[in-house]
Amino acid sequence: MFTGIKETASRQNLVLPRFARLAEQPPQCLLIEGGSTQDRLDMARYWACVLNCENGDVPCGSCQSCLQIADNAFNDFLLIDREENDSGTLKQDISVESIRELLPVWGQPPHGRGTRVTVVVEAQHLNGNSANALLKTLEEPRPGNVFVLTAPQRERLLETLVSRSWVMTLAWPTDARNTPEVEEWVRGMVEFWRSGQGWFSRTSAKGALDRELGLKVVAGCQRELKNALIDPRSTRSADALSGLFDPKGLRRLDLVLSKAQESLNYNVNPALVLDWVCTAAMPKKRR
Ligand SMILES: [Zn+2]
Repeated sequence: MFTGIKETASRQNLVLPRFARLAEQPPQCLLIEGGSTQDRLDMARYWACVLNCENGDVPCGSCQSCLQIADNAFNDFLLIDREENDSGTLKQDISVESIRELLPVWGQPPHGRGTRVTVVVEAQHLNGNSANALLKTLEEPRPGNVFVLTAPQRERLLETLVSRSWVMTLAWPTDARNTPEVEEWVRGMVEFWRSGQGWFSRTSAKGALDRELGLKVVAGCQRELKNALIDPRSTRSADALSGLFDPKGLRRLDLVLSKAQESLNYNVNPALVLDWVCTAAMPKKRR
């Protein structure tokens, strides 16, 4: 449905003029970071519409190309994603085969009059082999083709992929506030980053943390990090975070939190994971 793309595009309206400018000379590879997973995919589709709409470079949302891109039914719009296991869950990696099987397609001109757009969905799931196969593809000229990588943030991808890409950063999603229980944990973390004290007694308390709470605390910290980036004065923790971390430190914290989320999903002990978050993200002393 084009409606979803339109809604995301209106929330991400700050980047829309940049898409229009990029369309004049489309980069071979566009990396879309920031926002939510859904935002990134919607904006990848939006980009495909920009390059293929039959009514100019502001997607009309009503021509056949726009509608087909929104419905995954467009011949020149390809998605590379993780395959499903027999149980219906997604595999851990994007396989090298999913890149290789498209090589003959990329060698052909697009079906329509526009540009073929291939999206690598959440490219942080590329493994060594598939990332290298993709890199090789990007090293060769592919007339009529452009590529899009989506990822939560560029640091999750191989540096060589990032350096070949034009990076577009979407606005972070704004969510509701944390529950008091989660907020209490987040404040504990912030206090540790400020003073270097008071954290480990929390996580070592027996039965203090299970996996579910650990995930909530990580999500709560991500939420405050986003607040710190958008409007530091909106909450006490956001204000404290923006005082403790410089922009680079905030990006590192985001990366640490994403890794923590993954570890919790793989059932690593939640107390260990949160202890690691606290020490790995520790801000460098400011002069
Ligand atoms: Zn259109």
